[in-house]
Amino acid sequence: MSPSINRSSIRTLKLPSGEAVPVLGQGTWKMGEDRRRHADEVAALKLGLDLGITLIDTAEMYASGGAEQVVAEAIDGRRDETFLVSKVLPSNASRAGVKRACENSLKRLATDRIDLYLLHWPGSVPLTETVEAFEALKGEGKIRHWGVSNFDTDEMEELVGLTAGGNVQTNQVLYNLSRRGPEFDLSPWCVKRGVPLMAYSPVEQGALARNARLEAVATRHNATAAQIALAWVMAQEGVIAIPKAGRQGHVRQNAAALDIELTPEDFAELDRAFPPPTRKRGLEMI
Ligand code: NAP
Repeated sequence: MSPSINRSSIRTLKLPSGEAVPVLGQGTWKMGEDRRRHADEVAALKLGLDLGITLIDTAEMYASGGAEQVVAEAIDGRRDETFLVSKVLPSNASRAGVKRACENSLKRLATDRIDLYLLHWPGSVPLTETVEAFEALKGEGKIRHWGVSNFDTDEMEELVGLTAGGNVQTNQVLYNLSRRGPEFDLSPWCVKRGVPLMAYSPVEQGALARNARLEAVATRHNATAAQIALAWVMAQEGVIAIPKAGRQGHVRQNAAALDIELTPEDFAELDRAFPPPTRKRGLEMI
């Protein structure tokens, strides 16, 4: 299939700002750690861009900045077609810390702006200070939007109660078939407010690709278990999936998962194998 044909099939959803982003992105955790895998990682991200998976998720934490450098190489000459997401560590979430961390990320990413800048998880710096720092970076044009990660419902409530807190554009959390906790109240909260949930580890770091309970559904669609896990995440309202794939074969499979339409029978079977939550549980993190 030619890249241009596949590109047009990429579904999008809207951020609260009104900007459309693809429901499938590319994760980068563990990239930039091993020089021997470097060329494959760059090639995988580039192929993803060719296939229209233009949202790339990274963080200052990953390989201590090494993942951002892999991303820089992959998007060289293609910055304008990329929607770049990076994250600041909670230990850098003070007003001065956020500014410094962002400038360091911009250098490593070899760009002048980050499209969506996230607080990696809640920390000890008052949230209001971090939000002010994000808004200041927006004013300077160094970031276009900001959001959060690993925030549970009560933390989202606190956030939107702050001045400018309502400018949050996403909450990136652990969400996949084997981690359905967010469905109890976090995803409904996000849907109600129009804040997309960005699902990290959508194939449970590869474990769902080996899960026998996905096989029957996969066989019906002539697909792999990983593709079914991804198709399920992407079928949820207001959800963006960001699998990490360092191999080009995986990137192709993940892009093809966009074309899988699960049936009511599939959803019912997956609900039996991976039951939805019946009570509130604290948000899990990897
Ligand atoms: P993941 O995407 O669920 O799994 C990645 C693993 O699955 C890799 O080993 C990859 O292999 C394999 N894989 C990918 N596509 C596959 C396919 N089609 N078939 C079989 N295996 C496949 O886990 P993750 O990396 O933890 O999560 C994704 C991204 O979310 C991260 O990279 C990161 O950007 C973000 N994240 C954010 C947080 C946070 O706190 N905000 C936490 C965790 C992750 P290869 O690499 O060998 O292709």
